[in-house]
Amino acid sequence: MYRGKHVAPSNGGKIGKVIAWTLVSLLLLALVGGGIYYFVFMKQTETPSPLPVDPAPVDPQPVDPQPGPAELERKEKREALLKECEALSLGYFYDEAIEKLESCADLQNEETDALLEEIRGKKDALVPYESTQYYHIFFHSLIMDTAKAFDGDYDSKGYDLYMTTVDEFSAMLPLLYEGGFVLYDLKDMMEVVDGQVQKKTIYLPEGKKPLVISVDDVNYYDYMQGDGFAERLDVDENGNVVTIVDGNPTYDGDVVPLLDAFVKEHPDFSYRGAKGTLAITGYEGAFGYRITDLHLYDEETQKWMLDKTMEVSDALRATGWNIACHSYTHNQYWTERTITMNQIQYDIGRWKRDVVPYVGETNIFIAPFGVYYGPGDARFDFLLSEGFNIYCTVEASMNTRVLGNCFFQGRMNLDGWTMKDYPERIEKHFFDPMDVLDENRPGVVKPAEPIEPDVPAEPIEPAVPDEPIEPIEPAEPTEPTTEP
Ligand SMILES: [Zn+2]
Repeated sequence: MYRGKHVAPSNGGKIGKVIAWTLVSLLLLALVGGGIYYFVFMKQTETPSPLPVDPAPVDPQPVDPQPGPAELERKEKREALLKECEALSLGYFYDEAIEKLESCADLQNEETDALLEEIRGKKDALVPYESTQYYHIFFHSLIMDTAKAFDGDYDSKGYDLYMTTVDEFSAMLPLLYEGGFVLYDLKDMMEVVDGQVQKKTIYLPEGKKPLVISVDDVNYYDYMQGDGFAERLDVDENGNVVTIVDGNPTYDGDVVPLLDAFVKEHPDFSYRGAKGTLAITGYEGAFGYRITDLHLYDEETQKWMLDKTMEVSDALRATGWNIACHSYTHNQYWTERTITMNQIQYDIGRWKRDVVPYVGETNIFIAPFGVYYGPGDARFDFLLSEGFNIYCTVEASMNTRVLGNCFFQGRMNLDGWTMKDYPERIEKHFFDPMDVLDENRPGVVKPAEPIEPDVPAEPIEPAVPDEPIEPIEPAEPTEPTTEP
């Protein structure tokens, strides 16, 4: 028997129907719910809604950050700071660069740290210059136009002897630079301690040599007019000293603008901005302005000349130049050694009265004709009492010593005379003058084929004489007025 089929057949049928309906209902619900879910949610993911979707939440950390204006400004400031400090460092202004970097904490980053480290290292690498050999070269105003200077008139021979051309000077600068020379301020080679003049320690990078450049008679004398020289110095709108040639400012008319431009290009050629020393007389004014002959000009011109002299002097000092006294008269009695006490008092008196008010005080005396007056000579005592405790002569040895509480320095003339007649003097310290000699000078014939460079001889340390040697005295091309 099949017992199950027979136990409550009617009741068992109703319960089965209820269960079946429940199952069907659940199935339907599941289908409908699944369908709704599919259409509402699943379809959306497949087909983008034409309606705008809520934007995705903004990421607080943008992937590609755009610096804000504040950060951009800091970046620009930092770049300017780095550039400025690199330039300062090239010119040996280490302390100034270090101070700037240290005082800009808000701009500090690994770049500024690296530069600070580098500059501290350079400062630590400066060493005292211990050689007794000093280097001082001098020029007169440069010849721009050789055809006019060497035109065969009575001045030509003097120009050939005592002058240097623009091309020669321009060729010398890179040779001096490559030779390890660094322009150094003459005033910074000495100091006064407890009233005593002494040599001051010179600090330079290992192997570098201090070089002083001076230029005599930066007066643009009347006799030079029309002979191929600049007319006068002036100042451009940026404070640069320029040469005036045919009434127009130029940057290649004499030592000053040429050296300024070279240092701009090679800042490490100048220790802390030093350039050179300009020696001027008084008897035909200063820098091309006839300020000691004012009575020859109308009132407007007088004022213009005085203003210009002061403007040029200020601009020179601001750009690393010293101004020195080259005596007022440059009279022959200086070199003939016949100058009396009255005459020397008159000479320096006029310098102080008629020139100093417009060019400023100076303690540098660049002797006319390079003549030497030393301790034991009342004329030297007078010069010293007038405040000249730096005294420059002309000596190819460039001997430098302190005597009688005065700092004496000999200078070598890099002019036609030395280049042609005493080339070994220049070659011993600087370069072969044949490499720079202007072919437009009378009698200069250069070899067509380059010659094999000589093997440089071992430099001989010059003996320092106990007594100063008598300087070689190149005469000036023309002799100045003979005032009392
Ligand atoms: Zn002179």
